[in-house]
Amino acid sequence: MTNYGERAAQPQPASSGLIDLRSDTVTLPSPAMREAMLRAELGDDVFGDDPTVNRLEALAAETVGKEAAMLVPSGTMGNLVALLSHCGRGQRVICGNESHIYVYEGGGASALGGLVYHTVPNLPDGSLEAQALAAALPTLDDPHQAPAGVCCLENTHNRCGGVVLSPDYMAAVHAQAQAAGLPLHLDGARVFNAAVALGVHVRELTRHVDTVQFCLSKGLSAPVGSILAGPAPFIQTARRFRKMLGGGMRQAGVLAAAGIVALSEMVERLADDHANARTLAEGLAALPGIRLDMNRVQTDIVIFELAAEGLTPAQFLAALREAGVLMVGMGGQRVRAVTHYGISAGDVQAAVQAVAAVLGR
Ligand SMILES: *Cc1c(COP(=O)(O)O)cnc(C)c1O
Repeated sequence: MTNYGERAAQPQPASSGLIDLRSDTVTLPSPAMREAMLRAELGDDVFGDDPTVNRLEALAAETVGKEAAMLVPSGTMGNLVALLSHCGRGQRVICGNESHIYVYEGGGASALGGLVYHTVPNLPDGSLEAQALAAALPTLDDPHQAPAGVCCLENTHNRCGGVVLSPDYMAAVHAQAQAAGLPLHLDGARVFNAAVALGVHVRELTRHVDTVQFCLSKGLSAPVGSILAGPAPFIQTARRFRKMLGGGMRQAGVLAAAGIVALSEMVERLADDHANARTLAEGLAALPGIRLDMNRVQTDIVIFELAAEGLTPAQFLAALREAGVLMVGMGGQRVRAVTHYGISAGDVQAAVQAVAAVLGR
């Protein structure tokens, strides 16, 4: 079973006074993180001399069951460094058409790496459409085709509503990728949410991929930072790309200290965020003018469709802000709310009431 240490203390109130459900990235560091940051032993991490970064990287590698790990400033850089390390120019990156890597990372693999995105349709459960994946994986001995370089999964899947891919599904895709001679990379920005939702150790998910990126700065509440983990030679290559992209940080131990607390104390409490998201979703689903599929509410993300006459998502979000609650649009009629360390059960009740009031106007 999971054993990531003690549960964290109660969340601190949001500094803005608003109930901020835009993302789990708005989380503020816990008091234990502030304390650890203050006392962190430091050095120059570009020389490999920061003892706190080194401790975080060792802990992270051990936690996800990989040989080595590296701290990066963001999840976006972690994914980009992974793609650049796996592929050479002109190679294909196979990923979901709703994946964060494809939709939200500025096309970095193409713009900076000369890589080609080969998107495969994401099904609502976050998986990749099987026939399209099978067609994408093999590198045919055909000079017309860009050779495949890496295959990517996302767990939990952000744009699919924080849904969880099962270990069995990941194992099956891993086997398929291996048969095609391809590494499998996991965009595991919220892989700890997936593990907690499944009631398994995170290694039960990460053992089915070659490399993984996960965020310290989302539900785990560290102020800055992501981890890229994988085989030692891969991480050695990745360190060169991180430096090239400007991600070599000096006394980064001030950030790593919070990351250590994140991994040691903030994993178990994600269950509270999931319970709050469920309560929020149930409250919203009961309101007229909201369409919400409870089957898709599996972790900390709640995505719903606005079906109210004469109210655009932009108008809805503006009115909701007036009522003291922040959410974000996800394109079309879709709106997203995310629970996190700064959101209490009482905030969830207040948010449902605010939405009801906005819809009732
Ligand atoms: C947030 C997120 C990222 C990127 O993380 P940043 O630290 O914001 O760059 C990558 N993948 C997924 C699925 C995410 O939700």
